[in-house]
Amino acid sequence: MVQKILNRAKSFFLIELIKGFALTFRYMFKKKVTLAYPYEKGTLSPRFRGEHALRRYPSGEERCIACKLCEAVCPAQAITIEAQEREDGSRRTTRYDIDMTKCIYCGMCEEACPVDAIVEGPNFEFATETREELFYNKDRLLSNGDRWESEIAVRLEKDAAYR
Ligand code: SF4
Ligand code: SF4
Repeated sequence: MVQKILNRAKSFFLIELIKGFALTFRYMFKKKVTLAYPYEKGTLSPRFRGEHALRRYPSGEERCIACKLCEAVCPAQAITIEAQEREDGSRRTTRYDIDMTKCIYCGMCEEACPVDAIVEGPNFEFATETREELFYNKDRLLSNGDRWESEIAVRLEKDAAYR
């Protein structure tokens, strides 16, 4: 009975509404915790696993030596590599595809690579409108590497002590 009267009094005096307004006003003057994305972005961990990229050496030579370790270790079988020996005797890939629709971003390809060629960069904004756009080929991966090299190099350096 007492509870019923209390509930009625709360409803009559709009207590819940007043509490709600009080909460809103309290947060109006607090420091904002949300971001105005995409104009502002949060900080990313050096271990963030984003879009894949194939890296080059500073000379412009591609790092990948077509050892196929990444292809073998990939649990989603998302990587397809074909390789050929070049005239200078070095092995290089003629085909390096990643089916990003299969990838689970586990990072095992990056861990397996002996020359830091395949990496997961900081880019997380690569949504597409079609599935086909998520079938990455070697050119696409190399151009990602060129585009994100400075950020990737910093990330790898920060993470080096833990690898
Ligand atoms: S991140 Fe994992 S699932 Fe994706 S390509 Fe690399 S090994 Fe395969
Ligand atoms: S990306 Fe690395 S692990 Fe994969 S084939 Fe090239 S060198 Fe080997």
